[in-house]
Amino acid sequence: MKSQTGLKVRTVQFKPNSRNLFFHILTQCNLRCKHCYINQDAQGKEILDSETIFNWLKIFANRAVSFEEIPLEGNFRFKGKFRLPHEHVAEQTNVIFLGGEPTLNPALPEAIRYARDLGFRSITVDTNGYLFHDFLNKVTPGLVDNICFSLDGSTPQTNDPIRGHGAFERCTQGIREAISGGFNVSVIFTVSMLNIHDLARMPHLLQELGVENFFIQVVGIRGRPAKEGDYGLQVGRTLWEEVVPKVAKEAASLGITVTYPKVYLGKNEDFSCAGVDGENYFVFPNGRVYICPLCEDLAVHSFEIKDNVLKLRPPITELDLIALNIPEGCVMNKILHPENIPYGESGEVLAKVACCMLKEEVRPG
Ligand code: SF4
Ligand code: SF4
Repeated sequence: MKSQTGLKVRTVQFKPNSRNLFFHILTQCNLRCKHCYINQDAQGKEILDSETIFNWLKIFANRAVSFEEIPLEGNFRFKGKFRLPHEHVAEQTNVIFLGGEPTLNPALPEAIRYARDLGFRSITVDTNGYLFHDFLNKVTPGLVDNICFSLDGSTPQTNDPIRGHGAFERCTQGIREAISGGFNVSVIFTVSMLNIHDLARMPHLLQELGVENFFIQVVGIRGRPAKEGDYGLQVGRTLWEEVVPKVAKEAASLGITVTYPKVYLGKNEDFSCAGVDGENYFVFPNGRVYICPLCEDLAVHSFEIKDNVLKLRPPITELDLIALNIPEGCVMNKILHPENIPYGESGEVLAKVACCMLKEEVRPG
């Protein structure tokens, strides 16, 4: 839809024939960000070697993902609306390599080449910008569709207290090197109470760096903040709605394409669950496979990879929970973060809540 400002705004619907594989090839990282979502107790500390990465990539490369069910006598599965992997047929699969810091895994360049040979539609690397193991010189722009750099502030003063001393300098240096090497670069900014005041300054920094795609993300209370206390990181509805859409439009008017999660849905907007309506797999080094990002701290993963075979786990898993139809929209927010849901005085739901996967996109006109 073209808005009055001449910008194109659209909700990015989950595509029925598109699959996303979020592949955590290790959980180790050189940084210790305050909002880090990694939980090594739940997700393992293994650094996957190239052979394991190849085998696991093969599981998700086919048009339909096959799996084995762990048989359970006298039990049943409440599958609800969820379509099991073999019921999805993906025309295209996108792989996102992440960690921890994925460039710390020396197998990453080989993994990228293998994913390209297997025919993945797009290959993205999410990095904190330190680009270990001479990463940029081991791959080419033709192999990697997008390198996505995490930056949580337009200056070291905002970014570094969140991500660590020196992180701003290293990340912006990495962005410059990647752009001058011909790579397609994007930036992801995780909005929290620690940096929302600075979001409006990001579009100009991105313009100066030459970045054309900007992802605004909502902080999730999982991993470190869930374990250590969330430091009041979460941004409430009013502030989110005041700031984020406006900055997105400002960035788009500078020629930058912006994607951000809707989080709070208007009365006439349909709720869509990424786990039910999309086909997303969040794979961790210990073999756990989740379909809902909010569940990643919990042992409710739907699948696990054992001996390089994808296995559907017995109930109770995410599948049994997320397919429930509730007035609040997202079941896992209701269970884990009920404080996110706005209720009226008589208990009515004022806005359905969606997760970080349901996005709004604002493009230059
Ligand atoms: S860079 Fe990513 S993985 Fe590393 S500490 Fe920060 S959020 Fe966690
Ligand atoms: S966080 Fe909520 S909306 Fe997102 S996949 Fe999980 S249950 Fe669905």
